[in-house]
Amino acid sequence: MLLRLRRGLPGTQTDSILALAKELGYRARFLEGSNGLLHLEGTGKPEHRSRFEDCAGVEAILDAGDARERHERLPGQPDTVVAVGDARFGGGQVALIAGPCAVESGERLLEIARAVQAAGAVLLRGGAYKPRTSPYSFQGKGEEGLELLARARAETGLGIVTEVLDPRDVEKVAEVADMLQIGARSMTNTPLLAEVGATGKAVLLKRGFSATVREFLLAAEFLLARGNARVVLCERGVRGFDKTTRNLLDVGAVAHMKLATHLPVIVDPSHAAGRSELVRPLARAGIAAGADGLIVEVHTATSEARSDGAQAISAEVFAAIAKDTAAICAIDRRTLVRPHASPARA
Ligand code: PEP
Ligand code: MN
Repeated sequence: MLLRLRRGLPGTQTDSILALAKELGYRARFLEGSNGLLHLEGTGKPEHRSRFEDCAGVEAILDAGDARERHERLPGQPDTVVAVGDARFGGGQVALIAGPCAVESGERLLEIARAVQAAGAVLLRGGAYKPRTSPYSFQGKGEEGLELLARARAETGLGIVTEVLDPRDVEKVAEVADMLQIGARSMTNTPLLAEVGATGKAVLLKRGFSATVREFLLAAEFLLARGNARVVLCERGVRGFDKTTRNLLDVGAVAHMKLATHLPVIVDPSHAAGRSELVRPLARAGIAAGADGLIVEVHTATSEARSDGAQAISAEVFAAIAKDTAAICAIDRRTLVRPHASPARA
């Protein structure tokens, strides 16, 4: 590992860095004439990098050596492929998740589920617990919503992606969900990350709207450190200075993360756009940047949606997105995972 120490560091701070290096089993040596470059020789562990980052006297970690964190891609390391129901994310396989923002009624959910399945979705999304900006907005149907999701899965065979907001609800939500969503507002909720990490369930981790890529990857690290390797990262746009779009879809971060981590990365064009007419072009951009899938908000009566109606698209537009995705996958020699026929219609 190679550290750059701050200039003019008091001897006591240098001593405490050297003591920490010794405690972690490294042999430390200042590089000659380097003005504060400290080389640590020894066997690195993922947790060591953060230990040194927390030292006041360490300005930067120039090379983490083999103290790599669990999310990092080692040279030549293949993608981690996360399997959820019929979906596969990573390793050249691309899968589509679609459904309403929130579970509204059993009939509506089933209608949307059938429509998105026919159009190419392999997993059904829908929030039973909704993280809303206002306490007066629809907060989701809670347990009733979970029951409706379970029924939709039984009817269609689609795996379920749904958000868990409260660490106390993890067990209950995990009984129904095939993939637990941790929303943008919860990305830094470390007790929730720890609880979800302990379930071993697949996780859809969304990037916080003001989180740096490093903060996002360290949130994933909380899940991995709890022994859950089934983590899919979701870029859903970050807050920009301009309200023309709801958020700024960071396609650069998608391209970067496909190199920097072995974990699958998907894109949510709906929350990035905030406007239905922009969802399809952003979906194309996400897949073209290398995303391993999409999560899209679809509604069969967009004007009646109880949350995020402005960004809801019809099943027809979603079908066009699925076609675009297949076309981009063909260029990249990747495969779009296709839905099986529903048990009800098979
Ligand atoms: C959602 O998926 O409905 C949601 C609330 O997304 P985000 O956490 O990205 O805002
Ligand atoms: Mn939403």
